[in-house]
Amino acid sequence: MEYICYSCGKIVTEEDIVKRVRCPYCGGKVLFKKRPEIVKKVKAR
Ligand SMILES: [Zn+2]
Repeated sequence: MEYICYSCGKIVTEEDIVKRVRCPYCGGKVLFKKRPEIVKKVKAR
């Protein structure tokens, strides 16, 4: 699982926050889960 720092926008891995839930780059505490872009499915008839 990967997270994105809300402050600096860098990717924070789960290993980085195993000890402390904060961004190792800027120290930001707000992280949100990284979601893969959802590709809209087009119905094929
Ligand atoms: Zn950060």
